[in-house]
Amino acid sequence: MKPSRAFLLPLWASALGFAMGEAGAGRWLSEALDPAVTLRSCLGEGAALLVCFSIVGVLLGRLAPSRPTLGTALALGLWALVWGPDAARAGRLPDLAGVLPAILVFLGALRWPRLACGLGMLGGLAAPALRTRGFSDYAPLAQHAPAGSDVLLITVDATRADAGLLDGFGGAGWWTFDQAISPAPWTLPAMYSLFNGAPVATHQGGLPVDGGYTRPAFQRSFVADFAAAGWRTMAFVSNPHLRADLGFALGFTDWTHDDDARAPLVLLSSLERRVSAARGWANAMQHSRDDRVVDAAVRALSAPHAEGERRFVWVHLLGVHEYARDPRVLEAGDSGTTAAAALRSAYAQSVRAATERVDRLISAAGPEASVVITSDHGEELGERGVFGHGHALQDTELRVPLAMRMGDGGGRVEGQVGTVGLSALFTAMAQGKAALPADALRSDTVWVGGVRRDAAAFAVRHADGRYTEAPGVDVAPGVAAPIDATSRDALRALGYAE
Ligand SMILES: [Zn+2]
Repeated sequence: MKPSRAFLLPLWASALGFAMGEAGAGRWLSEALDPAVTLRSCLGEGAALLVCFSIVGVLLGRLAPSRPTLGTALALGLWALVWGPDAARAGRLPDLAGVLPAILVFLGALRWPRLACGLGMLGGLAAPALRTRGFSDYAPLAQHAPAGSDVLLITVDATRADAGLLDGFGGAGWWTFDQAISPAPWTLPAMYSLFNGAPVATHQGGLPVDGGYTRPAFQRSFVADFAAAGWRTMAFVSNPHLRADLGFALGFTDWTHDDDARAPLVLLSSLERRVSAARGWANAMQHSRDDRVVDAAVRALSAPHAEGERRFVWVHLLGVHEYARDPRVLEAGDSGTTAAAALRSAYAQSVRAATERVDRLISAAGPEASVVITSDHGEELGERGVFGHGHALQDTELRVPLAMRMGDGGGRVEGQVGTVGLSALFTAMAQGKAALPADALRSDTVWVGGVRRDAAAFAVRHADGRYTEAPGVDVAPGVAAPIDATSRDALRALGYAE
């Protein structure tokens, strides 16, 4: 074989195999918002790899004609570069499925250059395919029967009460709530409240300060009550605001944050992330994030219990929050009513996807588990000419879905409840007290606050739906901490809207 072909063929083969493998991984991992986007991406990545490899192969053929195995070594190096750091970040062993075929190719190339080409292609195909299986396989759900009475909390980001997330709920054993009010219109202050059991005015987290938001250390969390009572406590989240170093991991024995998980198209997604950041776009490929979070949670929920083990499992779904990154919305651009219609349609579709994920999680938890489903806040869908949340204290941003299944009771609760009360409910459960959810949560007045750009905006929502202004609070000195570089990078990597 000519030296230049000995360089090029293994590289071409591995580029092709790599792209095909990524296409497979993309199909399995991506939410099918637009399969054409995934296919185009894979073809683009394959073509880009072929061009780059060809240039490198020709150069190497000129520079070192006596060492034709260098081409194969490059292919091996590429696999190691792509899969190795990823495996390390995930805290697992180096990806043997990727490394072993690469070693085979390298050894084979020393002796039989042509055979090595075939092996290169197979290896490129096999590595991501084998690797992906770890994300996709989960135990069959129907036969699942947990030993203990587990508790599952599902928070679906940015989901309005009237978005239809819980349509179809309300059957036997379920409490549904007509008027559930979140303590704040965006994630950080709202989730502080959910775990602390205190309104924003008290914990003062997530209030705007110079260039950032206040992030006081957690004073308490109901999760610590579960842990103290000997429960296993597990979190599966991906929202960049829900970080362990901000205290959200307090009390959890198992903390899984998806920041480090890879997107299906490794090379292309990192390129696209840069292009998106430079052009102010959002990355369309991260939609698989919820799938990975749910897969991991389903595996944990379906695993057999140790003797006497009880589990509290929290899953936070981010997909609805990312509806503005639907490719159809990006295509519609800023074209007025078309863009608004595309946004509303993408929102509805992402809520339907969330409902399916909620169903999967509930099935995995089994019929004995107690389940609470809610959202951290609502979403403004153009009612006042804007989309998004965190802007104002009003029902579109504060009224959230809420349903729970625990014990034998059930029914529709019409009065106002504050989701801030869930913390006390969970603490009671951890301590083995039986509390009627409706009674524990009903409240004539709910304190709300935490508007992104107005630290002084606080209000009380009354049971009849009125909001009355409430005095602002003096932010305690020492609790203010501007948004830091780590968080900013994490938000940017996700293409986090706002
Ligand atoms: Zn949120």
